[in-house]
Parts: sequence; structure tokens; C-alpha cells
Amino acid sequence: MDTAQKQIKSKHQVVKDTYKICPKCGNFIIYIDKEKYCSVCGSEYIEMCPSCHEPIIYPVSRFCPVCGKQLINAE
Ligand SMILES: [Zn+2]
Ligand SMILES: [Zn+2]
Repeated sequence: MDTAQKQIKSKHQVVKDTYKICPKCGNFIIYIDKEKYCSVCGSEYIEMCPSCHEPIIYPVSRFCPVCGKQLINAE
């Protein structure tokens, strides 16, 4: 048993940075921000992949790394 690793785990619970991204222009903010709409183009941010509902961990990604769905400029 690796007790050191266990301690780290209990200390840092769910500290995973997730982001909201603008599906139109690619602008992004961190998830805890209250903003709902993109300050650049006014579109509503998406906070997860619309296809597989994975949270967005890489704010610059144009495609979902899990399912390959295009997140930005989908239309
Ligand atoms: Zn935008
Ligand atoms: Zn996905």
C-alpha cells in the first residue's frame, strides 16, 4: 500500500480545472466564473462536450478529446 499517495488524494479532492468555452469564437473562461455568455461574440458558453458530456479540461481544444466531437465552429 502506498500511504503517501493516499494522503495526497484526500488532501486534494476534485481539484480539476475545467473551462467553459465559446462554441462560436473559441474564447474561454474557467468554470467557476459566473459569466454565461461570451464577452467577445455574445454566444452562450458550453461547459461540457455536447456529445459525451465530458467536462472541458483543455480550453484551447477545438475537438473533444474523448469522443472527437467538434466543439468550436461546429456549424
Ligand atoms: Zn465567442
Ligand atoms: Zn465528447
